[in-house]
Amino acid sequence: MTRRERKNAKYWRERAIEQEAGIDKLSTEVSERMAKQYRRSFKRLTREIDALYAEILDKGLEAMTRTDLYNLQHYAALREAVGREIGSLSEAQDGALKELLEHITVGTYESNCEALGIGFSMVSEYQAKAIATENWSGISFSDRIWKNANGFNLRVMEDVESLVVSGKNPATVKQKLMEDYGVSWNEADRLVRTESSRAYNKAARDSYTAAGIQEAEYLAEEDCCDICAKYKGRKMPMPEFPELPMHPNCRCTIVPIVEGFR
Ligand SMILES: [Zn+2]
Repeated sequence: MTRRERKNAKYWRERAIEQEAGIDKLSTEVSERMAKQYRRSFKRLTREIDALYAEILDKGLEAMTRTDLYNLQHYAALREAVGREIGSLSEAQDGALKELLEHITVGTYESNCEALGIGFSMVSEYQAKAIATENWSGISFSDRIWKNANGFNLRVMEDVESLVVSGKNPATVKQKLMEDYGVSWNEADRLVRTESSRAYNKAARDSYTAAGIQEAEYLAEEDCCDICAKYKGRKMPMPEFPELPMHPNCRCTIVPIVEGFR
C-alpha cells in the first residue's frame, strides 16, 4: 500500500478545509495592511483639503465657479496629492497581491505534491510557470488594480470639485472623501480574496491532475450561494468541475478522491 492510499477521504476533506482557512487568513492580513495604508493616506489628504479651504477663505471667494477653483494654488496641489496617494496605494496593492499569489500558488502546489507523493522536479517546473503567469481572470489582477485606481481618482476629484464649488464645508468634503476611500478599499479587499481563491484553486487542481487524480468532490461553504449550492457535495470527473471561484468572495473548493478510498 502506497503512502497516499493510507490517507482516507476524511483526511483530504479536512486538508482542503484547512487550506481554505489558511488562504482566508493570508488574504485578511493583506487587506488589513491595506486598510492601515488607506487610513494614513486619507489623513494626508484631509490636510490638503484644509489648505484649500484656507486659501478660499483668504481670497474671500463665496460664490465660486469651477474656473475659480482651477485657479487656486491649493487646488492644483490637492489634485497632485490625490494622484500621488492613489498611485502609491495601488502600487502597494499590486506588489502585495503579486507576492501573496506567488506564495499561495507555489505553497499549495508544493504541499499537495508532497502529500500526494509526486516528485520535486515537477514542482520546480510548475513554480517557474506559475511565477511567470500573472493573468488569472482574463484581465490580469495588475491591470484590474490600475483600472480601479483610475476610477477611484476620477470619483474623488469629481466629488471634491462639485462639493467645493457648491459651497459645502470642509467636513462634508472629508466625509465624502472617506466614503470614496471606503468604496475603493472594498474593491481592493474583494480583489485580494477573489484572486487568492483563484490562485489556490488553480494550484490545487493542477496538483491533483499532476498526481493522476480522476475525480473530486465539490466542497461548498456552509452558507454558499445558489450558484454553488447546485454543486454542493457532487462527485465528478475532474475536467467537469467549473473553474473556481465561481463568483467574487466565493470560498468553495474541490477535494480529490484519492484512488482506493471512494
Ligand atoms: Zn461558492
